[in-house]
Amino acid sequence: MSDQTPAPADQPAAAPSTPPQQQQRQHQTPRQHNQQRPQPPQQWPDLSVIVPLYNEEESLRELHQQLNSVLRRMNVRYELLFVDDGSTDRSFQVLRDLKRNDRHIKIIRFRRNYGKSAALAVGFDKAQGSIVVTMDADLQDDPTEIPSLKKRIEDGYDLVSGWKRKRKDPLTKTLPSRFFNFVTRLLTGIPIHDFNCGLKAYRREVVKSVHIYGELHRYIPVLAHWEGFRVGEMVVQHRPRKYGKTKFGVGRFWRGFLDLLTSLFTTRYLSRPLHLFGFWGALAVVAGLLVNGWLTVEWFLGATSLSNRPLFLGGILLIIVGIQIISIGLLGEMIARTRTTEQEYAIREFIK
Ligand code: UDP
Ligand code: MG
Repeated sequence: MSDQTPAPADQPAAAPSTPPQQQQRQHQTPRQHNQQRPQPPQQWPDLSVIVPLYNEEESLRELHQQLNSVLRRMNVRYELLFVDDGSTDRSFQVLRDLKRNDRHIKIIRFRRNYGKSAALAVGFDKAQGSIVVTMDADLQDDPTEIPSLKKRIEDGYDLVSGWKRKRKDPLTKTLPSRFFNFVTRLLTGIPIHDFNCGLKAYRREVVKSVHIYGELHRYIPVLAHWEGFRVGEMVVQHRPRKYGKTKFGVGRFWRGFLDLLTSLFTTRYLSRPLHLFGFWGALAVVAGLLVNGWLTVEWFLGATSLSNRPLFLGGILLIIVGIQIISIGLLGEMIARTRTTEQEYAIREFIK
């Protein structure tokens, strides 16, 4: 396999010395114990860059070059985690070629296209850096922002989300996106402008504790905020898509709002679902009792026969069925949240 190829040309950019407080933090990582046994103490990277990608063959070389030129200058130990989300083009071959000459690269390859959230979730699981940066593979995000993002984390934020203030996308995307961000800001109370920006930086603890699945990657700041992490934002440059085309159609907005419902539910009501279900359930029962009571009174007075009022029964039926459907959907979300991410995706290869 390609991972056995030695790569003397490309040594880690950083000097092996580590500031004392970083060594301290490294001792706290749960897997260090196992890692230390076979070899002399292995240094954990300071920075992991996770790039989820789906059919981005044209962009990858350029992206890799840009990333390396920025990261080398930063003088940190880093790893580049590319998560190939079941690409059907030559993306994986391009990555494997790049890996031959760069031992910072790690590639995770899915068997099929699971979606950006799945790719990020697995990247989060495998990342070893004390700071983790995510970015899109299509060159729309600018790697030169990474040092400032890292600085913000070092200043005390747990998650810093990019804000594409001048967005280089068509109006059909930017307008709904504004509305979407406005509603999310309103409902969650988190004062950031661009929830779904692909360029974000996290403290290690954040990526190890938020669970994303489905299409919840849009709401990582919401999930992190509700777990008590300090969430901030930073204006970042955005560039137009150079190669290929967007992987998300108009369906994104509809699904985005369903996911907003999920993230509100799972962050606010997961530990107290009765507050949500109890309220609506009681309301439905009271409404049903009122309707039935009224019908019974009318029936007693002999004005009409109950068999002549199908509309009311139809109304009751609709209410009950609607509530059942919503409850089943939300119960499904509860179940999904207790599952671990690793078992959900069939990883084809993980080349270290
Ligand atoms: N992506 C992915 N899996 C998918 C769809 C997209 O890994 O199923 C990646 C894609 O390759 C890119 C990033 O997610 O690196 C953002 O996708 P895209 O640029 O299409 O989104 P947009 O910028 O249009 O919001
Ligand atoms: Mg894009």
